Amino acid sequence: MVVDFHLDDVVRLRKPHPCGSYEWRVVRLGADIGIRCLKCQHRVLLPRSELERRLKAFVSRGGTGAEPVERD
Ligand SMILES: [Zn+2]
Repeated sequence: MVVDFHLDDVVRLRKPHPCGSYEWRVVRLGADIGIRCLKCQHRVLLPRSELERRLKAFVSRGGTGAEPVERD
């Protein structure tokens, strides 16, 4: 399954950031996707495939207004 990321999507990852937060906002799209931790504002770039592996669920969608999508 190809995951359709959009700017301002909020995603929940499978493992928490060291600060304790599971939730990140998509801030940059490209071959690598930039995400910012909602709690500590730390920003990282991950290859799209890596982010897809770490993704647990979409908390909210930024770009489309589409329904949240649960994945396992
Ligand atoms: Zn954090």
